[in-house]
Amino acid sequence: MDPREGITPTNCPHCKHHLDAATNLQSEERPAPGDMTVCINCAAILRFDEKCMAVACDGIPDDMASQDRMFLEQAQKAVQRMIQKGKDLHSVKGGEKR
Ligand SMILES: [Zn+2]
Repeated sequence: MDPREGITPTNCPHCKHHLDAATNLQSEERPAPGDMTVCINCAAILRFDEKCMAVACDGIPDDMASQDRMFLEQAQKAVQRMIQKGKDLHSVKGGEKR
């Protein structure tokens, strides 16, 4: 499945990273307006607006189902770990550790 399908490309409102793809971790369906997403570059929580463009949101909405909320928090932590790993890789490269 094309991860770009149904997404309106934009830049992350937080880090300006170009966002033109999304993977739905919960089902095979493409993201829909109102769905939440996590920036792959800075782990900010974002929301898809009516054009399915990722826009800023003030954290996780209060009315979100607790299961979805947990899932989103896990996804955010996974991205944060990935970002940290990437930084570690950069710092090891060219460092003295082997
Ligand atoms: Zn970002």
